[in-house]
Amino acid sequence: MTRAELPATAARATTVGSSPVRDILALTARPEVISFAGGLPAPELFDSEGIRAAYAGVLADAPDRVLQYSTTEGDPDLRAAVAERMTVRGLPTGADDLIVTTGSQQALTLLAIALLEPGDVVLVEDPCYLAALQCFGFAGARVVPVPTDEQGLDPEALEEIVVRERPKLLYLVPTFQNPTGRTLPLARRRAVAQAAERHGFWIVEDDPYGELRYDGEPVPWIASIPAAADRTVLLGSFSKIMAPGLRLGYLRAPAALRRACVISKQSADLHTSTVDQAAAARYLRDRDLDAHVAVIRGAYRERRDALLGGLGDALPAASRWNRPEGGMFVWARLPEGQDATELLHLAVGNDVAYVPGAPFFAGKPDPGALRLSFTTHSPTEIQEGLRRLAGVFARA
Ligand code: PMP
Repeated sequence: MTRAELPATAARATTVGSSPVRDILALTARPEVISFAGGLPAPELFDSEGIRAAYAGVLADAPDRVLQYSTTEGDPDLRAAVAERMTVRGLPTGADDLIVTTGSQQALTLLAIALLEPGDVVLVEDPCYLAALQCFGFAGARVVPVPTDEQGLDPEALEEIVVRERPKLLYLVPTFQNPTGRTLPLARRRAVAQAAERHGFWIVEDDPYGELRYDGEPVPWIASIPAAADRTVLLGSFSKIMAPGLRLGYLRAPAALRRACVISKQSADLHTSTVDQAAAARYLRDRDLDAHVAVIRGAYRERRDALLGGLGDALPAASRWNRPEGGMFVWARLPEGQDATELLHLAVGNDVAYVPGAPFFAGKPDPGALRLSFTTHSPTEIQEGLRRLAGVFARA
């Protein structure tokens, strides 16, 4: 009997494929590699004891509830605790304004399903968080880059592009952006909010890093600016302040869009894990998350300073880089003519790694750009990693 061929995968599944950079970075899993590539929180800073106690507590007290199916919107106690944290930070929020998501990454997928038709225009910062580009690409959106400078998205360029492209939504990471570490100043946040008010588009404000501030003053969320209050979706996450393996994030959205996201979440996973949500709620009730975040901030500040202190000696003369006030990333540019993707081979051969900047661009890539994450290694390891990088660039 001849065996019939199987139908092909959907075109979208083949266009969003594995990348050459991903293949090189797979080599950095070797323990001897000092990697500035990953963007992983430091595992030794997880409060594993506190998290274990929270799981043990909910499993002992309410196993029938926390092992059962639950509502799509999420655990009421967890939503109330998140709402309280948002309110304290200057954005009055009720539990009902929120949906708990399986990581904030899922919020992007839910929004794409709830809002986007194939061909709709989504505006993004250029460069942009890679998995957001993939998510909007998967939805069949036409992703249009908005130019940025050292302070993030350029509001004048935004205005022009909005008039020309009539976008359905603008996606941005205004605080300690991935990949650049940049923070959008308040005046620009207002300009973004006013553009959305005048022209009518959704703003998706993704903020997984905002609590990791090492210097300077917090900048208000775009969601708290009245002009855009009814058209901004704010995303948050426990990944960087508690642990990414919990896969717990949340979405704050106006009622009609929130309902559409609930329907799209029903089809995705019915709800986020009941026991994980209950444990996080218990942790927030019994422990002091702010005190824990203060410990993380102290450690990451030292690591950022170790990286910034040594970059001048590690990168080729005439390179440039920024000094982010928080988050996990420093964005650097090699001098004209040097290609960060080509040099990555040499770096990995010398047991050190970074991520080339090129894949983060939705527009024309800057071949000299690279992203360095400073959170995963100790200051001493960071210094050793920089010595190895210096060796690579001296030979280039
Ligand atoms: N948004 C941005 C900007 C990110 O950098 C990340 C992860 N690194 C996410 C969303 C997803 O985070 P999570 O799903 O773990 O909440």
